[in-house]
Amino acid sequence: MLRVHKIHLEPNNMQATGLARAAGCARFAWNWGLAWWQSEYAKYKAGQRDTTPGQFEARRVLNSVKRDEFPWMLESTKCAPQEALINLGRAFENFFQKRAKYPRFKKRGVRDSFKLSSGQFAVTENRLRVPNVGWIMMSEIPRFTGAIKAVTVSRRGGQWFAALTIDTVEPQQLPVTGRTVGVDVGVREFATHNGELFATPRALRKAERKLKRAQQSLSRKQKDSANRAKARRRVARIHAKVADTRGDWLHKLTAHLVGDYDSIAIEDLNVRGMVRSRHLAKSVSEAAFFEFRRQLEYKTALAGRRLVVADRWFASSRTCSSCGVKTKQRMALTVREWTCERCGVGHHRDVNAAINLDHLNTPGVPRYQPVESSPPLPAGACAGRQASSVKQEPDSNLTNTVA
Ligand SMILES: [Zn+2]
Repeated sequence: MLRVHKIHLEPNNMQATGLARAAGCARFAWNWGLAWWQSEYAKYKAGQRDTTPGQFEARRVLNSVKRDEFPWMLESTKCAPQEALINLGRAFENFFQKRAKYPRFKKRGVRDSFKLSSGQFAVTENRLRVPNVGWIMMSEIPRFTGAIKAVTVSRRGGQWFAALTIDTVEPQQLPVTGRTVGVDVGVREFATHNGELFATPRALRKAERKLKRAQQSLSRKQKDSANRAKARRRVARIHAKVADTRGDWLHKLTAHLVGDYDSIAIEDLNVRGMVRSRHLAKSVSEAAFFEFRRQLEYKTALAGRRLVVADRWFASSRTCSSCGVKTKQRMALTVREWTCERCGVGHHRDVNAAINLDHLNTPGVPRYQPVESSPPLPAGACAGRQASSVKQEPDSNLTNTVA
């Protein structure tokens, strides 16, 4: 099984220049290839050539002209332009298969990267050898054992990283626990059906506030000024910091969930409740949600666990987890607790949603308590019943799943 381990690189100044040069070659080759492709395709359309252009031909043409026209390319690894054109071929294939948009020209400094195929690099312990650059220190040693098939070197927020694709032996599946979990993803915290709440860490909120201020500062800078370029680098750096902090927190959370539960139920992209939030809050929580789901998808697959994704219209917050009635009104985000009008049970908004999601782990098991035609209980009776309904859920759940 192929797994990727992305490791921070610690190049010295000369090495960083060499990496930037190789990434520049890759970008140039991509842009050159895209322009070539477009003109060759126009010739095909006009009947001046019999076949459509392809990446093999693009590589051959670039190789034949590079020595004379782009001699500076010889200073970097030949892998960088070659792999860029292979990627371009893949991008066109994805476009023709309607999986992606038409390939676009790349800009300097935006997702700078280049790829090294096997045989073009070496890894020993915590060092990576890049042709024409030399041995570069890595911050960690690779996490997986096995043959390293390819390395993609990229720059983000002013830092360099190497993504190692490693062909590792199938990891062991985790033992069955007999437990399931429903997780409600909120803007500021994640809730599970048994009442656990995972708040976003303080460091993340702090970094997000810092990012917001840096973005505002950037928008005030004059176009094409040196100060604007500086502010842009600062935003990129804080952006990377936010993504790392969020990723770290989510990795711990998803590892815990995958370790403890056989089946995990989550919502599809959480659009409810985001309508009211401001633009930045929306993008921030969406990013967290996508990263959460991405991690759960591959971790459940690796561990032999199950991931259940509710359909987009599943009314997890508005359904009473005790009697199953759906309230008609949409609840404002500020409403944290509510009482069911039919059965009188009080609910914590997010925990109730998580309980409803957990029900999806074991379809066919009757969950909701039927209500006799008695008048609704007075509101005061809810406080006690809320606690018990929340606490009992995991146990009843356990017996249901084992049976
Ligand atoms: Zn109810």
